[in-house]
Amino acid sequence: FCFSEQNFDFFYFVQQWPGSYCDTQKSCCYPTTGKPAADFGIHGLWPNYQDGSYPSNCDPDSPFKQSEISDLRSSMQKNWPTLACPSGDGIQFWTHEWDKHGTCSESVLDQHGYFEAALNLRNKANILQSLTNAGIQPDGKSYSLSSIKDSIKEAVGYTPWIECNVDESGNTQLYQVYLCVDTSGSGFIECPVFPRSGKCGSEIEFPTF
Ligand code: 5GP
Ligand code: 5GP
Ligand code: 5GP
Repeated sequence: FCFSEQNFDFFYFVQQWPGSYCDTQKSCCYPTTGKPAADFGIHGLWPNYQDGSYPSNCDPDSPFKQSEISDLRSSMQKNWPTLACPSGDGIQFWTHEWDKHGTCSESVLDQHGYFEAALNLRNKANILQSLTNAGIQPDGKSYSLSSIKDSIKEAVGYTPWIECNVDESGNTQLYQVYLCVDTSGSGFIECPVFPRSGKCGSEIEFPTF
C-alpha cells in the first residue's frame, strides 16, 4: 500500500439547512454553545468514487484529536454546528465525520488540513446568500427545485444536488446541498456523478429556522 496513492475520485461537500434538520419528526437539539445562526452549516466533506460508491472508516489508527484543530474551534462551532440529540459541543459530530470520511482522504489532507479545507469551501459557497439574492428565502414558502438549483449554480458556478427531507406535516423540504470538489479539497468541480438520495419533487419548502 502506497500512502501517497489517491484512493478516491472526488469529494462531496455537503451543507445542511438547520430548519429542515429540526422540523422533522425526529426533531433536533441545539449545541451546548447556543442556537446556531439561521444559515447553512457544514455536514461533511466526503470522499467518493466516480461510480457513486464511497470508502468509509478507512483508518482506525488515526483517531480524531481535538488538539490538532484547536485554532479552528470557534470557526467550527459557527460553521459546522451539531444539531443531533442529545445536545453536544460538536466534538462528537466532528469525530464521526473524521472517522467515517476524513480518514479516507488522509493521503491528501491530514486532520487539520481536512477541517480547514471544509471551512474554506464553506466560505467559497455561501448558499443562503445565493438563494436570497434570487428572492428565495427561508420563509416556510415553496420554491421550485429548478430555481433553487439555478440560483446556486449562478452564484457558485457549479451545479448542486439538492437532498430533501420531510417535515412533521409531510411536506418535502430543502435539507442538504451537495457540491463536488477536486481531490485536493480546494476547488469546486462539476459532479462526476450525482447522489441518488433525497427525493424532492418539483416544488419544495424552505422552512424557517
Ligand atoms: P443517508 O442514508 O442519510 O443518506 O446517509 C447517511 C450517511 O451516509 C451520510 O451522512 C454520509 O455519511 C453517508 N453517505 C450517504 N450518501 C453518501 C454518498 O453519496 N457519498 C458519501 N461519501 N457518503 C454518503
Ligand atoms: P453521517 O454518517 O450521516 O455523515 O453522520 C451523521 C451522524 O452524525 C449521525 O450519527 C448523527 O447523529 C450525527 N450528527 C451530529 N450532529 C449532526 C447534525 O447536525 N447533522 C447531521 N446530519 N448529523 C449529525
Ligand atoms: P432532470 O435530470 O430532468 O433535471 O431531472 C430528472 C429527475 O431528477 C426529476 O425527477 C427531477 O425532479 C430530479 N432531480 C433533478 N435535480 C435534482 C436534485 O438536485 N435533487 C433531487 N432530489 N432530485 C433532482
